[in-house]
Amino acid sequence: HLRGLDGLIIPGGESTTMRKLVARWGLRDPILELAASGAPIFGTCAGMILLAREISDGDEPVFPLIDVTVKRNAFGRQLESFEGEVSVPVLGDTPVHGVFIRAPVIERVGSTVDVLATLDDGRIVAVRERNAIATAFHPELTQDHRFHSYFLNMASES
Ligand code: GLN
Repeated sequence: HLRGLDGLIIPGGESTTMRKLVARWGLRDPILELAASGAPIFGTCAGMILLAREISDGDEPVFPLIDVTVKRNAFGRQLESFEGEVSVPVLGDTPVHGVFIRAPVIERVGSTVDVLATLDDGRIVAVRERNAIATAFHPELTQDHRFHSYFLNMASES
């Protein structure tokens, strides 16, 4: 089903389950090949965890396309899930309304990584490295389509 795709969104969910399914269905190499072909890959929340080169609890990386270290469940348990304004300069001056559901946070960014978004306290919640982008929050749960447009632009550029 990956053949002919212009890009791939790896959604939120539970990264432990998703990593098992990636292994069971042999998806690791085909998805890495899709990424290597230049197609944009967009990971949201658990998808961001799958795209990270390093996971701070020691889990093995799955698709190490973005040189960051992520911490899973960084804001706490489900009760600590929250919504908040996120500054995303590449999308304009109006902040993005971020929905964070047992979200990860980025603890370290490599020199090849662009920081796309931060919270007011400076914590990094969206990044890009080449044709891979990742957000700790869920742009698909709001009516603001700027992240979707950004991703589609990446697809048409590739
Ligand atoms: N907490 C989940 C994980 O660690 C991610 C949650 C989400 O995708 N909304 O995989």
